Amino acid sequence: MVEALRDAERSAGSLPARGDFVIRGAHVVTMDPALGDIPGADVLVRDGVIAVIGKDVPAANVQAISGSGMILLPGFVDTHWHLWNSFMRGLIGDGPGRDYFSVKRGLAPYYRPVDFYRAARLALAEALDCGITTVHNWDHNLRTPEDADANILAQLDMGVRARFSYGCPDNFARDRVMDLDDLERFRGQWTPQATDDRVTLGVALRGPFRTEPDIYRREWDAARKAGLPITMHCDRCMREAGCHRCDIASMREKGLLGPDVQIVHAVHAGPADIEAMAETRTHLSLSPQTELRTMGFPKVAEMLGAGVLVSLSIDTTATPCNADMFSQMRVTLSTEMARVEKAGLTPRRMLQMATIDGARDLGLAEKTGSITPGKRADLILLRMNDLNMVPCSDPVDVLVLSGLPQNVDTVIADGRILKRGGKLVAVDVEQIAAETRNSVTRMLQVAGWQVPPALQVS
Ligand SMILES: [Zn+2]
Repeated sequence: MVEALRDAERSAGSLPARGDFVIRGAHVVTMDPALGDIPGADVLVRDGVIAVIGKDVPAANVQAISGSGMILLPGFVDTHWHLWNSFMRGLIGDGPGRDYFSVKRGLAPYYRPVDFYRAARLALAEALDCGITTVHNWDHNLRTPEDADANILAQLDMGVRARFSYGCPDNFARDRVMDLDDLERFRGQWTPQATDDRVTLGVALRGPFRTEPDIYRREWDAARKAGLPITMHCDRCMREAGCHRCDIASMREKGLLGPDVQIVHAVHAGPADIEAMAETRTHLSLSPQTELRTMGFPKVAEMLGAGVLVSLSIDTTATPCNADMFSQMRVTLSTEMARVEKAGLTPRRMLQMATIDGARDLGLAEKTGSITPGKRADLILLRMNDLNMVPCSDPVDVLVLSGLPQNVDTVIADGRILKRGGKLVAVDVEQIAAETRNSVTRMLQVAGWQVPPALQVS
C-alpha cells in the first residue's frame, strides 16, 4: 500500500537541494540567550547547518539573500497537532451534529492511507506557509500500519522537521491495548537514516483517564522500555460537563510523570497538579485558541511560575483555528493579561514559547529553536515594511503584537528554501487543494453524509 502511495500520490512537488547561502543585513532575533538580537547581521548557512552569524561575514561564491528590512527568526515550533483532522475544516461548527466529536467520530473510520497522507500534507503546507518549521504530528486515529507510514511520507515530502507520535484508532476501546507489535516494526523502519534525520518518534497514549489500569500500564511500560517520549491529552473538560479537575497529581503517584512526558491542555490543573508537573519536570503543551473555545482558560502564569516547561501548539485546524502562530502568541498574551492581574508575560516570553521552548519540549533543542551556530537552519524572514509591521520600532514586540502569516517572506527548513517572496516554492498548492477536496468528497459520500455545495467545485 505504501509503495502504491509513493508512486501514485506523492506528486505535488519535490524538495529542493540544500545549498550554501548567506542572508545579509537582517535584524536577527536569535532566541539564543548568549547571542540575543543582532541588528544588521549576516547568517551563513552551509549544507543545512548555521555556520556563522555576524557582521560582514565573508561568503564568496554562495547565494546571497537580502535580509534588508526583514526580521530573521528561528522557525516556529508546534508541539501538538492532529494533522489528520485538517480535512474537517468547515465541517465542524456550532450547528446541530457539527460539534468536534460528532464529526471526528463520524469520519475517522473512512480514512484510507492516501487520505492520511493528503491531510498531513495539507496541514504541513499551511504550517510552512505560516513560518512553522517543526511540527508534532499527534496521531490519535492510527488505524493500520500503512496509515502511520503515510504520515511519515507526508512529513518527509514536505520538508519539515517533525515528531510523529504513534497512537491508536479514534474512539478505541478503553480495555484494548494499542498495536505495540506494529510500534516495534515502525521504530525499526523509520530510523534517522530513513527519515533524512528530520523525524523523531514518540507515542500518543490515552493514559489513566481513558483506559483501564492494565492497559495504560502496558502502554506506558512499552514506551519507556523503547525510550520513546510520551504525550497525553488532559482534556476531560471537553467531554465531561462540570469537569474542573485534572488530577495530574494522581499520575505522579502512579509513576506516570517525568521529563519524558508531555501533557496537553490541563486547563483545570490545580496547585497540586502544577506542583506534580514541576517536580517531575513534566512538560505542558498549550493550544490556547482551541482551549478557549472548548475547555477554558489555559493556566499559563501558574505553570510558568512553577517552572513548568510550556510550549504552544496548533492542536487542530478542524475547529476554528489555523496555523497562525502569531495569533496563538497574541491571544495567549492578551488572555493572560485579562485573567491574571500580574501575569508577568511579555511578547518575548511568548516568542520563547513558540520557538526554543517548543524545541526543548520535543527534545530538539540541539537542532532547532534558535539561531545558533551548529544548529540546523530552520529560519524565517519576516517583512518589517508591510503595513501591519510599520513602524517596527521594537521588532519582537511588533511581530508578536501585530504580526501575521502574510509577513512571512521566506521559510527555510533544514537548510532548504521552501518559501520565497511570500510564496511556497516546492509544492503545487492548487494540486494539494484539489486532491484534498477529492478526498473529503469521497469520504463524505462513503460515510453517507451530504457533500456541501461549496465542495463540489472542480
Ligand atoms: Zn489535541
